[in-house]
Amino acid sequence: MKKENNQNDEWLNSLEDIQYNLELIGNMYSDKEDYSLLISETLLRIPLEKRAEVIVNSIFISDENYGCVFNLYIKNPKRNKKVKQPIILLNFAAMEKESRPFKMDVIAHEIAHFIKGHHNKHPNNNDEYIKQEKEADDLIEKWGFNRTNKEKYKDLL
Ligand SMILES: [Zn+2]
Repeated sequence: MKKENNQNDEWLNSLEDIQYNLELIGNMYSDKEDYSLLISETLLRIPLEKRAEVIVNSIFISDENYGCVFNLYIKNPKRNKKVKQPIILLNFAAMEKESRPFKMDVIAHEIAHFIKGHHNKHPNNNDEYIKQEKEADDLIEKWGFNRTNKEKYKDLL
């Protein structure tokens, strides 16, 4: 999935195209906010190559916690073998009282977990968990977002 995508990355350069191509599951609207738009605007701020990687390979789900990243094992269309599907789960209801920029920081943070492959190496202990939290925040800081989880790894700074 490397070469072909790079040639066609232009189709992910507008907000409309990103919104059209996103895989979204769950409630993506509230009275005040279109969450698919919020996710798309966040993605538009992420380097194109990484953005394409996220949009082509992941599905966004709106649910309970602020967010998490995991693998869903689903049947392929021929139903003869399960395939591993990375999931980026976001809960906009839990974040309702947070500011819009903070929500975008959280979205970027969960995307960073995905880019770092954390859905493939679930932490075995608290140290590993804290290390992953710091790695995700290190990456979003590079992308121009604010750290979301500083309290958890402040001893490492
Ligand atoms: Zn995290």
